[in-house]
Amino acid sequence: MDMDKKPEKEYEDPIEASKHRIIGMPPTIPNYKEIATAERAKKRGWSWETPPAPIDESLIVETIEKEVAVVGGGIAGLAAGARCSELGLKTVVVEKYKGIVARGAHFACLDSSVMRANGVHIDKAQFARDWMHICGSRVNEDLLWLYINNSEAAFEWLLGIGGDDVKGNLFGGAYKGPDFTEYFGTHIISRKPGSTKYRYTGGSMLMCEMLQNFCLDNGGEIIRNTRVVQLDREGDRVTGFVALGEDGKYRRYKGKYAVILATGDIGGDPEMLAAFCPLGLKCNKNGYFPAGLNTGDGHKMAYWAGAQFEPGSWALSLHLIAYSMFVFYFLHVNRQGKRYMNEDTWAQAKSIRTLMQPDGDFAWSVFDDKWFEEVGERVKISGGQFCEPLVTIYGDEWNEDNGVKDYIDRYIQNGTCLKADTIEELAEKMEVPVENLVKTVARYNEMYEQGKDTDYGKRAEMLTSITKPPYYALKFGPALLNVHGGVIIDTDMHVLDNDNKIIPGLYAVGNVAGGLYGVDYPLLLNGNSHGRAVTWARAAADAILREKNG
Ligand SMILES: Cc1cc2nc3c(=O)[nH]c(=O)nc-3n(C[C@H](O)[C@H](O)[C@H](O)COP(=O)(O)OP(=O)(O)OC[C@H]3O[C@@H](n4cnc5c(N)ncnc54)[C@H](O)[C@@H]3O)c2cc1C
Repeated sequence: MDMDKKPEKEYEDPIEASKHRIIGMPPTIPNYKEIATAERAKKRGWSWETPPAPIDESLIVETIEKEVAVVGGGIAGLAAGARCSELGLKTVVVEKYKGIVARGAHFACLDSSVMRANGVHIDKAQFARDWMHICGSRVNEDLLWLYINNSEAAFEWLLGIGGDDVKGNLFGGAYKGPDFTEYFGTHIISRKPGSTKYRYTGGSMLMCEMLQNFCLDNGGEIIRNTRVVQLDREGDRVTGFVALGEDGKYRRYKGKYAVILATGDIGGDPEMLAAFCPLGLKCNKNGYFPAGLNTGDGHKMAYWAGAQFEPGSWALSLHLIAYSMFVFYFLHVNRQGKRYMNEDTWAQAKSIRTLMQPDGDFAWSVFDDKWFEEVGERVKISGGQFCEPLVTIYGDEWNEDNGVKDYIDRYIQNGTCLKADTIEELAEKMEVPVENLVKTVARYNEMYEQGKDTDYGKRAEMLTSITKPPYYALKFGPALLNVHGGVIIDTDMHVLDNDNKIIPGLYAVGNVAGGLYGVDYPLLLNGNSHGRAVTWARAAADAILREKNG
């Protein structure tokens, strides 16, 4: 969620403020399908497979000597810069965007002071099994356990950086299903009311601001508006990179001990999507912002330096935010007005099921005037992202002031949520065949009466009737957030080549690094992407220091 946007009314408590905020809809992905057909690529190969010509030495106006040079200043890059600087390594972070790059709010770890204060404990072995199950076992278990065992230290380090100016809360919006429950290890860091040290009120913008300031305070340097275009090699070793600055000039940045790639994912490059994660091309909306930064630059530069990619299909991370921020678990119908899934499931599963509908990337959640109470009665046994507010704090009860009604009212006003006195009228507004929707709703009501969903097996206690006008149809659909796949690394974050040998001097952290995810994004612990980014950044910094010290 964009914690940076000002709410219409000022709230002292940032968590409260974010409940009353409506989020800008993600942009439509331009020309993806035209650009990225596999047939086209087959004819001429993927364009990224051919390295560009090296930058002419005469164009390089300056050389900046550092011990560590980081490519990319998102959460992983800033965390790497912050940790390396803290450890006394002379570090520069080079970022192509003009400002802080961050999105979302959740940070996941497997244990923390906040969890212990809430009496929450995660069974790590069970968590590992669940993670691998969702990822189709395509996981480097050493990396998984690195995350499991070190994410707590990463979170506590962040909290420590924020000190008395921030607080950590535990997110309470986990999906609870009959055989699958999301884990309560998701944290939200926010600025304490009254504190003025940080500009941003909470979430990832605040985390990145904290990391940025900590990096600078420890002598690190952050260069923005500067795009890294090629890695330098001396023999086998990666020794630095060349970047194009905002003044139009090329500079060489040397990393005596390390170059760390922290360039994010490939979701903004349709060709790479087609090659590694073609399902991503079915999304019409891209939730990544600022748009166009995640073009797999680090993937490509590493590939040109001999790095090995993990095999596809890489895991897609999707959120149900393409049209609205809520979906609930009511009857879901596709664009033919027909039911297509068991709605009693988690956000990632709903996103993929909706994406796989033949004629479009959106669907409708259909409910009646009883909806608010009905959700409230069931969040304890279901809930999760896009049923509950994204800032639900652990222990919060469903209540009238949680902001959800405000959202739906605004969706009614802007036409995202349609309202009608009859199902026929609702179908017309939805532009679905009237007879289909009437039949679907009748069938759904019939199964509610019988107390058994014989069509899709939804839990009986999650069935509701659609009988009390007015009736509503809320448009929802998945937006592409990130693609989790990249270069093969070891547990020190060294990038490996096709012979599984370390490419000396080259490290990868955050989404450019592969090995932790496969097939599907394990949203069983919301915020694991940020948790992983900071954990990997710290692991890289520690390894570089070890290598420096021999
Ligand atoms: C809407 C949305 C909400 C999300 N919410 C959450 C959440 O709540 N919790 C969570 O865990 N995850 C969330 N995510 C996912 C999360 O934002 C990313 O997975 C995470 O930011 C990855 O961090 P990163 O540093 O690896 O990559 P990025 O944040 O993408 O940063 C990479 C940086 O590298 C820079 N870069 C790229 N190429 C170059 C180059 N050639 N030269 C210089 N710089 C370069 C980019 O400009 C960018 O700043 C969300 C994603 C989206 C889209």
